[in-house]
Formats: sequence, structure tokens, C-alpha cells
Amino acid sequence: MSRLESRREIKRRAALPPDEGEERRRCLVWGCGRPTQRASARGLSHGFCKSHVEFHRRHGSYSRRSYTKAELAPYRKAADKWLRDNNSGPMVLPTIATLQALLDGSGRTVSAYSLRGLDPEDRVRAVLANLRDAGKKGRQLLLITLAVKAATADLGPRGNPEFRHVQISKALHRLASGTHRTTSGFPLKSKYPRAEGNFMRVLGRKVEDIAGIVATPEAVAEVVDLAEALKREVPSAPTSGFGPAR
Ligand SMILES: [Zn+2]
Repeated sequence: MSRLESRREIKRRAALPPDEGEERRRCLVWGCGRPTQRASARGLSHGFCKSHVEFHRRHGSYSRRSYTKAELAPYRKAADKWLRDNNSGPMVLPTIATLQALLDGSGRTVSAYSLRGLDPEDRVRAVLANLRDAGKKGRQLLLITLAVKAATADLGPRGNPEFRHVQISKALHRLASGTHRTTSGFPLKSKYPRAEGNFMRVLGRKVEDIAGIVATPEAVAEVVDLAEALKREVPSAPTSGFGPAR
């Protein structure tokens, strides 16, 4: 089945009337109470409402919104310090070199306008190529993975690899955006495609698979400790208002 055909098929099935008893089902997110997608014949999900399916697509979790820049900042700082302190660790430099090879082997840069129609694997390559052309290095990929793993260990949600992968991708995307090329060669930040969808999972998993050799539970625990120490050093840093999103 072609991509277009399968998209049509999904659309058709999404609009089918709910099965017997299905129309009474409610979204599983605590406190939501809206009918599931199937109950309202507005999608395929038997467990979640349309807006929580959308939320999950963007954030990798049904209930936890993506980390803000400010939330992630202390973990990034801590990961940077940890990498400086552990530069001579046996796996650090080889892992950075492998991540660098991932960037170097990503092929030609693709115009931001052409990204939409690409398969997830090709989109992943395109984001990596943009990062490489923007001068980003393997060390930054490792730093982001350490920071995100430390943040999920400290702030949650724990045990949700999908959320982690999306957060790694979002941080990488943020590094690349604003530096991409358009077909005319002029940067056009506002047109950069939104960072959402399946390729975000693929990209995050790919980077985490390599970076995980260094970003072990022990290393992550050390980064969390460093981040906690950093937060104590800056008592004026905002700590409220970042509670889990509904
Ligand atoms: Zn819901």
C-alpha cells in the first residue's frame, strides 16, 4: 500500500462509527473525561481522546508536557561539567567519536521544504546533516542525552523511553533550527518544520543507543547530583510553575 493509500485508509477507519458499547468509553488520562477517539468517531484510539492523542504525538507522553529550556538548563550545565570531569574515562572519547561519525555520515543537507514527504529514517538523516553543517559536534549529542536522562531521572516521567527519545530529539532540533538552509540559501527560521511525529522517536533512540554507553545509570545519577548542587547555588532560579502538565 502506498503512503497516500494508507493515509486514506486511516482516514476512512477513523471516521467509522464506534462499535457496540464503544461510544461510552472515556479517555484514560486522569481527569480528562472526554470521549475516546473511537467513541466520537474522530480517530483510531480506543484509549484516548483526540487532544491527548495529539499531545502524545508532540511530547511522547499522554500527560507530561515537554521540558522547557529553563527546566533542562541545570541538567545541561551539570552534563557539561560531568563531561569535563570525566573526559579521560575509557568510553567517553570513543563514544563522542561514534556520535561524530553519525553526524559525518548523514549525507547531504535537505531543504527544510523537502522534509515533509520524507520517510522517518531520511528525516533523521536530514536533521543530523543540518546539525553537522551547523558545526555541531558529537560531544553535544552526548551532552544532550546525559542532560535528558538526568532530567527524566530527577523530574520524571521515569520508565518512559518514548518521552526520553522525543525530548532528546527536541533538544537536537533546537540546536539545528535557525541554521538550516532553504533552497534559495537564505535562512528562514519560521518555516522550519515542527518537531513532531515518528522521526523524533527514531532520532532520539538512535542517539541514545550510542550515547547510552557513557550515559549509564551511574553517570546519570552523578549528573543529577551535580544539577541539584547547581540549583542550590542559584536560589533565585524559578522552581515553581513547572509542575506536570495536564
Ligand atoms: Zn483526554
